[in-house]
This record gives sequence, C-alpha cells and structure tokens, in this order.
Amino acid sequence: MYDFSYHLPGSLDEAASALAGAEDGALLAGGQTLIPTLKQRLASPSDVVDLGGIAELRGISAAEGVVTIGAMTTHAEVAASAAVGAAIPALAALAGGIGDPQVRNVGTIGGSLANSDPAADYPAAVLALNATVHTNRREIAADDFFTGMFETALEDGEIITAVHFPKPVRAAYAKFRNPASRYAVVGVMVAETGGGVRVAVTGAAPSVFRATEMERALAGDFSASALDGVTVPADGLNSDIHASADYRAHLVGVMARRAVAAAAG
Ligand SMILES: Cc1cc2nc3c(=O)[nH]c(=O)nc-3n(C[C@H](O)[C@H](O)[C@H](O)COP(=O)(O)OP(=O)(O)OC[C@H]3O[C@@H](n4cnc5c(N)ncnc54)[C@H](O)[C@@H]3O)c2cc1C
Repeated sequence: MYDFSYHLPGSLDEAASALAGAEDGALLAGGQTLIPTLKQRLASPSDVVDLGGIAELRGISAAEGVVTIGAMTTHAEVAASAAVGAAIPALAALAGGIGDPQVRNVGTIGGSLANSDPAADYPAAVLALNATVHTNRREIAADDFFTGMFETALEDGEIITAVHFPKPVRAAYAKFRNPASRYAVVGVMVAETGGGVRVAVTGAAPSVFRATEMERALAGDFSASALDGVTVPADGLNSDIHASADYRAHLVGVMARRAVAAAAG
C-alpha cells in the first residue's frame, strides 16, 4: 500500500525544505511518470512534494533573444504559446507533438527533463538549442545536464526552476514516433545557433546525444544534401521490440535530413 507524507508547498523554499527534511522524498510535477511508477511499486518515497502550488515555477516569457519556460509549464502551454511560436517555432511544434492531449495538458517540461527518458522529445530541444537548465541551486548547461539513461546532473534535493532557450537562427525537429505512445523511436533536432550548428538525437541511444559529424557537415553547407554519406554508427544504439539498432541508425539520417530541409525551407 502507499505510505507517504504528501506536501503541497506554496513556494520554492518550502518545497526545498520539505525535500531536505524527508528521508526519501520525491518531487511531483505532472505525475505522468511518477504516479505509474508508484502504482507499479517501483518507487516508495517517504514523502511526495507536489510542485503544483508554486506559482513561480509556471509561465513563459521572452526577452533579449531568450525564451524562459518555468519548470511546471505544461507541454500544451508551450505548444500554444505565442511567445514560443514567434521566437522558436520548432520548440512549440515539438511540444505539440508530445504524447496525446491528456499527456500534453498535464506533463511538464521540468518533469520531462528530470526524468531524462531516452525517448523523450524535450532533451533533443534542450541540447540542440544549447539551453540552460536553471535549478534552485545553479545553472546547468545543456551539454552537462544529460548524463545517461534516466540520469541527469541533478543532485539530491535539487529542483529545476526554469529552462532558458536562446533564440536560434533557425531550427527544426523531426520525429519518427511510436504510434502507440508517440514517444520518439528516433527524433532529431537541428539548430543553427549563435555558437554554430547543433544536432541532437533522442530515442536512438540510452541518452540524448549530439551528432558531431553531422554538425561539421552542416556547418559548411546547411542543406540536407550536406548529410549525404554522413552516418551514425549502430554500435551502442538501442535495440528493442520497436526498432533494431541498425534501423535506428538509419532513422537518424532520415530524420536529420527532414529536420534540415524543414529548417532551411
Ligand atoms: C502515455 C504517455 C505518452 C507520452 N508520450 C511522450 C512523448 O511522446 N514524448 C515525450 O517527450 N514524453 C512523453 N511522455 C512523458 C510525459 O510527457 C511527461 O513529460 C513525463 O512523463 C514526465 O513529466 P511530468 O511533469 O509528468 O513529471 P512527473 O511524473 O511528476 O515527474 C517525473 C520525474 O521528475 C521529477 N521532477 C519533476 N519535476 C521536477 C523538477 N521541477 N525538478 C526536479 N525534478 C523534478 C520527479 O520527482 C520524477 O522523478 C508520455 C507519457 C505518457 C504517460
């Protein structure tokens, strides 16, 4: 049976205190992953700290070429945001392609990033757009945030507060989705940023990664044909009932070309 203390803090400081005082605390955002995990008895926290009452974790703003999205902002809010649509349309489109309407209206960007599911969409956006994850303790660069399958650089008790996305010159995301869950079998976000071209791949490997050979090819010629002959090795890629490693490697190339064509067009 469930046996935990439920907390509904009204501020970030209260949430951090509740977590610090817990023997084995868990944060609750949209609950799309945490609740099924509890139901399956895969986790049994002593305390559940619900972030739903903290106004400062919600909302979207855009200023000086940066879009800031609060951790508790839902995928549906990002998809519908005029500010995101104007500054980074690829990000709004990515959010609108997550799961189904029920998932999008409850799931949050903070929960998605903290969970670091290998097939989740947002990690590709955070990495390709060179975003910065802000927490109640520090700022974490995208390149340092994702550390493995369901693993991140977050420390015990650390709470994501917002994600800062610099506006790219151009960007696009292409996903080959699982028809049942809509998670990415393979998803590729391509972005031309102030710091160069970045290509991030999700779904293919245990964790999101940058396709650096593709980045080099696109740096000189931002066109789908620049990727001719550039492949991603199947070694180390995921192989499961949905797709073999070889098929995923092939899909990375196909999705990357589609994303470049969409961004360039
Ligand atoms: C049927 C289904 C289909 C889905 N399809 C897709 C899809 O196509 N693409 C996709 O990307 N995702 C998909 N998802 C995932 C979903 O969109 C959610 O993003 C994800 O489940 C977690 O977000 P959440 O807000 O529900 O987090 P929760 O389940 O509440 O939390 C997840 C984890 O993150 C931690 N956490 C939450 N918020 C914070 C925070 N602010 N700081 C630190 N830690 C935190 C929690 O403690 C927990 O460990 C799907 C989910 C379902 C159930």
